[in-house]
Amino acid sequence: IPVKNIRNFSIIAHVDHGKSTLADRLLEITGVLEPKTSNRQVLDRLQVERERGITVKAQTASLTYCYKGENYLLNLIDTPGHVDFSNEVSRSLAACQGVILLIDSNQGVQAQTVANFYLAFGQNLVIIPVLNKIDLKNANPEAAIQQLNTLFGIEPKDVLKISAKLGTGVVNLIEAIIERLPSPPSDRDGPFRGLLFDSWYDQYRGVIGLFYIKDGKVEPGDVIKWCNTGKQYKVKTIGILQPEEIPVTKLVGGQVGYISCNMRSIKEAQIGDTVVLSNRPAEPLPGFKSSRPMVFAGIYPMDQSEHSVLRSAIEKLTLNDNAVTVDIDSSPALGQGWRLGFLGLLHLEVFTQRLEQEFGAMAIVTSPSVTYKVFIHGKKNIDKYGGEELLISNPLQFPDVQIIREIQEPIVLGTIISPDLYLGSIMELCMEHRGVQQSATNIDDTRILLKFLLPLNEIVIDFHDNLKSISSGFASFDYEERGYVPSNLAKMSIFLNGKEVAELSSITHCSKASDFGKRMCRKLLDIIPRQQFQVAIQAKVGGKIVGRETLKPYRKDVTAKLYGGDVTRRMKLLQRQSEGKQKLKMIANIALPRETFINVLKR
Ligand code: GDP
Ligand code: MG
Repeated sequence: IPVKNIRNFSIIAHVDHGKSTLADRLLEITGVLEPKTSNRQVLDRLQVERERGITVKAQTASLTYCYKGENYLLNLIDTPGHVDFSNEVSRSLAACQGVILLIDSNQGVQAQTVANFYLAFGQNLVIIPVLNKIDLKNANPEAAIQQLNTLFGIEPKDVLKISAKLGTGVVNLIEAIIERLPSPPSDRDGPFRGLLFDSWYDQYRGVIGLFYIKDGKVEPGDVIKWCNTGKQYKVKTIGILQPEEIPVTKLVGGQVGYISCNMRSIKEAQIGDTVVLSNRPAEPLPGFKSSRPMVFAGIYPMDQSEHSVLRSAIEKLTLNDNAVTVDIDSSPALGQGWRLGFLGLLHLEVFTQRLEQEFGAMAIVTSPSVTYKVFIHGKKNIDKYGGEELLISNPLQFPDVQIIREIQEPIVLGTIISPDLYLGSIMELCMEHRGVQQSATNIDDTRILLKFLLPLNEIVIDFHDNLKSISSGFASFDYEERGYVPSNLAKMSIFLNGKEVAELSSITHCSKASDFGKRMCRKLLDIIPRQQFQVAIQAKVGGKIVGRETLKPYRKDVTAKLYGGDVTRRMKLLQRQSEGKQKLKMIANIALPRETFINVLKR
């Protein structure tokens, strides 16, 4: 297929606006999938995606379509919508010349619609605005068209209307892609250059890379070279994704395809790096900026004997999720482990779920924390810590209060879009989370766009969930980094029966320490199962007790009430009890459920 007949595009949208459903329809219309009436979201291939009903990985499919007597190759890259996975979006856009900006005509423009629009706009991509779900009874495409015009200056005549579910208007959309998007700029006679934008690990073939082929061509047997590391490999197999792998004999400029070349070490495939032919070197392509992790947590094996299993699982999974950063860590109660950085809490939860489901590795995750800047004084202390300014993302490593001169915390600029009906409760929620309002704009007759400065540590855990629940699911939220500001913070420690459990420490704003401490203790009382003895739960800030609860011991054997008789029921109960036990971890002599460290911070 000549390069002028190639179109590379992505579908971007707020979560649940119908990207994966639209991708299904596109696959059907182009004959990759048998048409069926059921919705299946074939590009959501991970178990976690099916269970949570969200896309966490960008997926790719190469489609062909005949238009006005010519065959076109359409490379579709399906992307996740949740704020925690926005780096998947920006990576995918590096391989595209245009995007479909999909908007639910019932919900209108949402916070991630705005964020995604600016991502695509900033990369000079052609944007095709598309209203989805026009089949819905409450659909209000006119309101959405007005919002697109007010916010982005999009002309109403450029907006397409479709129903991804029923397929209405999707053929029109395909033709708009062909008409409005440029073909990829490519010099097929020039030296081969491919941009790596995704990779995954295959047990038999090692690392497989997904490339946007900018120039030239590549075939099995070619020797390729990474621009960054200079390492060379012989190409084994190449192919395109539909979304299953379909081997081909060559990949040429403008295409998107995979290359496997027997790479064993995951460190050698850096997302954003360029490959060239070793006998025909060329300049590397501009890479792309990947997002910095915002939330850090310790990850430990349930038992030290599982350390190496967990290590290899983390290595393989980070290859498929390069937004995660990994450092070695250790903790008094949990032993040797790692400190991982994530883009948000959902990202963290999805990562640990994938560790378990795709690699069979069970992990304990400690309380997540953002990165603080701590300034210390005293020459001796500065020498000891190797500097006056410390970056601390583990509450365990907070220096003594006496030597701290100032603490700074990261803040973000949050964007909230909501029906004005919920304005009052949203203001209240933001105040509660130490937010400072920056602006309020009406985007149509009933919707409002609010901007708030918020401390990152106030929003990582459950701000988004709370916002959803006070607005019956109608408000949406997105944020961008805004640097650091000085803040009055302190470390809160948790004691169980008088023993400090360092893994439960967290950082709190002093004005909230007392409420927070009481809440943590109540939450722990809820989470920790009864033990054979009484457990005193205490929260302390700067040596002062700010919260206290007592967990009563359990009295009866669980099977005692089943006097004799039913043996099978008795066996089942005992079995269930021991299964429950496997997920507990002994800390300070107390059996804690594996999820304690994260759940304790949620409201
Ligand atoms: P994504 O998060 O953007 O990938 O959204 P999904 O494709 O997973 O769709 C979210 C929900 O909207 C699913 O329940 C779909 O069945 C539904 N949906 C998608 N498109 C349409 C549509 O055109 N009409 C209706 N009524 N529902 C749709
Ligand atoms: Mg999806």
